[in-house]
Amino acid sequence: MKEKCKLSLASQIFIALILAVIVGLCMQKVPDIASEYIKPFGTIFLNLVKFIVGPIVLFSIMAGIVSMKDIKKVGAIGGMTVVYYLFTTALAVTIGLVAANLAKGIFPVLATTSLSYEAPKGKAPLEVIVNIFPSNFINPISSTNMLQIIVMAILVGFSIILIGEKVRAAAETINRWNDIFMKVMEMILALSPIGVFCLLTPVIAINGTMIIGSLAKILLVAYICYVLHMLIVYSAALAVNKCSPRKFFKEMLPAIVFAFSSASSVGTLPLNMKCSQNAGASNEVSSFVLPLGATINMDGTAIYQGVCTIFIAACYGIDLTFAQMVTIVLTATLASIGTAGVPGAGMVMLAMVLTSVGLPIDGIALVAGVDRIFDMGRTAVNITGDASCAVIVTKRLAGKNKKSA
Ligand code: ASP
Repeated sequence: MKEKCKLSLASQIFIALILAVIVGLCMQKVPDIASEYIKPFGTIFLNLVKFIVGPIVLFSIMAGIVSMKDIKKVGAIGGMTVVYYLFTTALAVTIGLVAANLAKGIFPVLATTSLSYEAPKGKAPLEVIVNIFPSNFINPISSTNMLQIIVMAILVGFSIILIGEKVRAAAETINRWNDIFMKVMEMILALSPIGVFCLLTPVIAINGTMIIGSLAKILLVAYICYVLHMLIVYSAALAVNKCSPRKFFKEMLPAIVFAFSSASSVGTLPLNMKCSQNAGASNEVSSFVLPLGATINMDGTAIYQGVCTIFIAACYGIDLTFAQMVTIVLTATLASIGTAGVPGAGMVMLAMVLTSVGLPIDGIALVAGVDRIFDMGRTAVNITGDASCAVIVTKRLAGKNKKSA
């Protein structure tokens, strides 16, 4: 019965995607109607998702840590996760850079003098780290600041483990609240097909024709990299750890489609938890690894930053040196940690990457018009990377446990 429901949600999301493309294309002459009358329902759905994300992250991480009963185990999961995240992100920028360099010949050199893009103030590198730590208990939740919620949850979870028996009731309460919020999440997720349709239709109605033209080339390069990264890097990592890539992608499809439509890793988190658990991740691991990934692991965003930096340099007629490419790999990896899992955040962080190699930030204006289309693909990659990590860490832990048993 459960299997049937799951499949039907996946196919409903898929049908919603196809309908959105058809209706969006039909509405290209009247994009305002799509924005004014269809998008609001997507916004309602996204609001509900945003509402549930804070409590889910807080309670699922606390419950996850408490259930491990052992700080060393949390450390082991955290260590493996961060290494995997950093390594795959660096690989992602590199793939983006290599592909964009290969395709450089097809990028136009533009008369770029009239461009202007008002960049939001860039972040200083260490600000990213400072911002991880909350200065009070309420703000992180009210503003859904994921990294700060994660830090809070880890501190409270560790304390519960350290105090032990005396606070067993508190641990139980956390578990029960976790159950309650999971149920709320399930109810909201049942609306995902409507959400997908209402979010995607206006995007297609507005951007449909812009896809054609010179930007199509850069979009194509980025999408080829997205697909290659997913199929090669994640499949290889899964296969090396004896997990079936086929099963993984099959189970992940609803979350990938949802990420594609919503362009928000954070918004996709609830569905990603469900799909990655179907793909083999344990509840314990995914409730820790996925919220962390939705916040700091952005492989798709890293690819996008690599590709766009080369594109913008080419448009300005600038050739980047090898040292500059290495700088891009480092800054894009750092930028991806600082990128929030919400629509459009990656474009803001592109400013940091461009500045690091002395390219004009104005260049962002070249790609800003179709950012949403880049964003849909990069978010799909972002959440797939998180899920692949959850599945792999689960497998490795199981292996370790077997050995030590
Ligand atoms: N929208 C992306 C995400 O939520 C972040 C980005 O803009 O690159 O993962």
